Amino acid sequence: MSHCPACNGLISLTETCLHCGTLLSDAGSREDFYGPYKPYMSNDKCIDQICMHLLICEDCGSCVDWPVPVMR
Ligand SMILES: [Zn+2]
Ligand SMILES: [Zn+2]
Repeated sequence: MSHCPACNGLISLTETCLHCGTLLSDAGSREDFYGPYKPYMSNDKCIDQICMHLLICEDCGSCVDWPVPVMR
C-alpha cells in the first residue's frame, strides 16, 4: 500500500505552471500510467521511495513530473 501523502489526500500539490502561472492539477500517481517507479538517491539525502505525480496545466496543456517523497 502506498503511503504517499498526496495520494492519500494529506497534502495537496500547489505548484503553478512555468508557462502561464495557472495552478496545476494533480492527475495522480504516474504509476497509474507507466507502472511502478524505482526508488532513487537524491543529491543530499536518501529517499526511501517516491511517488511520481503527473501535474497537468488545464490552461496550456503542459505536463510536469512531480516527485513526492513517500514516508514509511
Ligand atoms: Zn502519490
Ligand atoms: Zn500552463
